Amino acid sequence: MTSHGWFDVVEFPDKVTMIAEPGHYEDVKSFLVEGDERVAVLDTGMGFGEFKALADSFSTKHPVVLLSHAHFDHIGDAWKYDDVRVHPAEADDLRAGYPHERMRRWFNDEFLLDIPLPAEADPETARIPGKEPTGELNDGDVVDLGGRVLHVYHTPGHSPGGVTLIDHDNRLMFPGDAIYAGPMFAHNAYGDPEAYRATLRRLAELAADVEVVYPSHNRVPLAPDEVVAMHHAYEEIYAGRAPDEHREDCDVHTFGDFSFWMPAGFMPGDGSKA
Ligand SMILES: [Zn+2]
Ligand SMILES: [Zn+2]
Repeated sequence: MTSHGWFDVVEFPDKVTMIAEPGHYEDVKSFLVEGDERVAVLDTGMGFGEFKALADSFSTKHPVVLLSHAHFDHIGDAWKYDDVRVHPAEADDLRAGYPHERMRRWFNDEFLLDIPLPAEADPETARIPGKEPTGELNDGDVVDLGGRVLHVYHTPGHSPGGVTLIDHDNRLMFPGDAIYAGPMFAHNAYGDPEAYRATLRRLAELAADVEVVYPSHNRVPLAPDEVVAMHHAYEEIYAGRAPDEHREDCDVHTFGDFSFWMPAGFMPGDGSKA
């Protein structure tokens, strides 16, 4: 691991480089996956620091940005790249960017940990400019990086346009925010509990064919067995498991270091968010 101010960088085997932002409560991770011709940039950080300049210093290959989804903590520097692809369900979110009115709150003290903000991050003006996508990421697509390919799987639930990328030759999975060790939200306005269920089932099946899982938040990497455990945990909720905690807007089901936050009063099977 090397520290670069706001960012930490970890170089994993198989030409996978992780760029983390440990100074923020979101604890987001982005990844570079290098082929012979191009480097895939799996998300572009929160937009708090000079993400692209740092990423460029780790690969001389021409970058293609493949967005796991278009939440703000993943699209920060997307506008600086010439080739940016996203699932069509979130293309408008990428076009819209993230205005200052919404960005401002992420600079509140409660979200900032012990690492100083980068000099270029100005809480009074910070925003993420919109970006017109240059391509789509649809289920079944294959992105050729030269001597290396990434397969695209549509994995909605956390958000409508979530995608998981799999490098089958190297047995690596990049699920974005579909799964991670932490609170997984199915209760938000953009979440979909039924879609989440199908996604977890599919990821558990795909986990049989990978060795390493690189999620976009918190503990990295995860083992494939943990993906299967998340699927089983979610099925317990559908089987009628009692929540561990009732909150105002959600029911929390906790399993070790991950949890699922379901819509309050969620009744399995009817998709109710009442
Ligand atoms: Zn997200
Ligand atoms: Zn995220």
